Order: sequence, then C-alpha cells, then structure tokens
Amino acid sequence: MAHRTTELIHHPYVAPAGFDAPQPGVFKASTVFFDSVAAMRSREWKDKSAYTYGLHGTPTTYALEERLCALEGGLQCVLAPSGLCAVALVAMAVLKAGDEVLLPDNIYGPNKAFAKGELANWGITHQIYDPLNAQDLEARISPATKLVWVEAAGSVTLEFPDLVGLVRVCKARGIMVALDNTWGAGLAFAPFDLIPAQSPGLGVDISAHALTKYPSGGGDVLMGSVITRDVGLHMRVKMAHMRLGLGVGANDAESVLRSLPSMELRYRAHDQATRALARWCTGQPEFVQVLHPALTNSPGHDHWRVLCDNGPGGAAGLLSVVIDPRFNQDQVDAFCDGLKLFRLGYSWGGPISLVVPYDVPGMRQAWPDRIAKGTVVRFAIGLEAVEDLQADIAQALLAMR
Ligand SMILES: *Cc1c(COP(=O)(O)O)cnc(C)c1O
Repeated sequence: MAHRTTELIHHPYVAPAGFDAPQPGVFKASTVFFDSVAAMRSREWKDKSAYTYGLHGTPTTYALEERLCALEGGLQCVLAPSGLCAVALVAMAVLKAGDEVLLPDNIYGPNKAFAKGELANWGITHQIYDPLNAQDLEARISPATKLVWVEAAGSVTLEFPDLVGLVRVCKARGIMVALDNTWGAGLAFAPFDLIPAQSPGLGVDISAHALTKYPSGGGDVLMGSVITRDVGLHMRVKMAHMRLGLGVGANDAESVLRSLPSMELRYRAHDQATRALARWCTGQPEFVQVLHPALTNSPGHDHWRVLCDNGPGGAAGLLSVVIDPRFNQDQVDAFCDGLKLFRLGYSWGGPISLVVPYDVPGMRQAWPDRIAKGTVVRFAIGLEAVEDLQADIAQALLAMR
C-alpha cells in the first residue's frame, strides 16, 4: 500500500471522455506524459498531431490557433504572450544580419522602437516609408530589403495606406510583406485575399495581430498571434517561436476563446458608435481635423473604401482629432483630464472608452501635409451609449475653452 500522498498523486480515476459543452476545456500543462520512451522519441511537436510539452501547445491553444486562422483566412498560427511579441517574432523569424526591413511612418510605435533597438544591434537596418505612397516604398527597396511591414489603418493618425498597391510592389519583387492586422482584426478586410473579385489570393504573407484588442475584448488579456498561409514560412516562425520559448497561459487562451464568438458584433458596435462620434467631431471648432478612415476627407479614405467599405463593421473603433494649435499642451491635457467616461489609458478593444494625447512629431520621421498642425488626441470608443460619450466630449471641450 503506497502512502496517502502518493496515492493521491497517482489516483487511478479517469473521468469519462466525451464531455461536450459550449466552451472548450482549459488544459494546463508544462509536462505532458508519454506512454513509452519510444513514444517520447518519436513524438512530433511541430504540428497538431500530438502533444509534447506545454510550450508546444495544448488542446486549448490548438483550438484558439485554428479559430484565429478561420477568422483571418490563414492556414497556420502561433500564439505569443503579447501583440508586440508577435510583431518582434516576425522580424526574428525572417531577418538576419545584413538584411533591411521597411516600416511605414505611422506603424505601431513599439514596432519602430524594436527596429531602432534590437534589430539595429543585430546588424539589421531599417528605413521608414510614406504609407500613402507606394512609389516611395518602391524607391527604397534594395537587394538588402527582406521584409516590408504594412499597417491599415496606421496607428494614431489612422491614415489608410494603399494596401493593395504596397502589396503589389512587394510581390513584384518577391519581398515578404507582414501586416499588423490589429485594427482590421480579420473583420474589416481579408489580409490574405485583399480583393478576391479582381486578384484572388493577392495578400500579405504574414498577419500579426494583437489579440489584446478586439479578440480579447475585455482589456484584461495580453496576447498576440502570427498567422501565415505558407507551410515553409510558418515553419520559420514556428522554429523561432520554439527557440525563444514563447507560449501563452491556458486561462488567457480560454478568455480569448470565450470572447471570439461575440467579436464581430462588438466590432460592429464599436464601429458604428465611432463613425457617429467622428461625424459629430467634424462639427466642433476646436478640432481642426478628424482622422477616421470612413470620413471622406480623412487621409487614405479612398484606399479604405476599396478594401473595407463592404457593409457594417469595416472601420474599427478608433478616432483621432487634431486640436487647434491655439490650445497649448496644458489646455489639451485639461481636456483629456476633463473627460469622465473616457479613461486615460493605452490599448483598446474593451468596453470602456479610452483617450490618449500623442506627441506625433516625436513619433514620426515626417509630419505630412495631409495632417493638420496641432496636438493629436486619440479616442478608442468602447461600448457605452454613443450619446453619453458625445456629451462627455462636449463637456470636456467646454472646460478647455
Ligand atoms: C496594441 C497593439 C500592438 C501590441 O499589442 P500588445 O498586446 O499591447 O503588445 C501591436 N500593434 C498594434 C497596431 C496595436 O494597436
């Protein structure tokens, strides 16, 4: 008779298989068991045929990966502990010393910081291109160019690039294109099939997505994904992912699985409220420009129409305004502090509306003519009633005057 603790640890009861319920189970593991040494030696970790170690996947993470592939129209997916980590993983998987990466000037700031920091330290150079000018991208391509990032809409100023044009430039030269697909989220456009009617299969090679935003939807989970449609490319990402020891917690994966079914409805609701507020903002004299791709005079609106103007839910929940330069930084800060429903905080995609004032000149190589001069304030619209959000902005504007 073994000791009680040993018996507890090796208890023979196994619950019957076949449990079926709406939500997939949460499988947590570092260790995964094998029946024999032979099984241990022969177990394949690179695909979803079996299990080898928690970092290489569990039923919970496999289920999330497959659903994200369905969302974005990809074939393979790896999960990373944050959106930024997914972005960095792409570069680490495909670049080596001597290579160059091209980034749009309005890319997610920390992506640029990674290029200026780690990539530069590793002998990988970068150049910044104008996201609204495919010729500018083309002119910067050299034999060293091995990766081009695109982001639609770009961060903070929400200029919508000529995504099709940019992808075409890269395809013509055999250069890999990676998209930061956090804004589109797989709902505004199909990253691997941008214009299916005209050019089936024309799309990016890699989609990186901050699941922290709409897939989580709660402001409480950090996670990222890297999705591909090519096995060889996926294996490069997968090997870098394995060697870096990246993985996600099962409870976090379960949170995202739980939120995914409502994502499209939430995205549409964010979208509709944001469009209504954007239109209202255009009538406020303090705002010299309203940046939102569905507004006809917002930079890149025509590009947005080509890809996303195909029904409800094509414009996400972000909106930026340029505040008239006659208001100084203290006044702009007072406006942001004066908001009551909008909370000050980074990130987006959750139920609570957020606001952040940005120092755009400090973030960009060039301030393009298409963006008015002034302080940029970005709103991330949550799921509150749009009338309440509008009243909140109106009262905070009064405080600024
Ligand atoms: C938030 C965000 C990321 C990074 O996601 P984290 O999970 O916060 O690291 C990357 N790209 C874009 C466009 C984002 O908005």
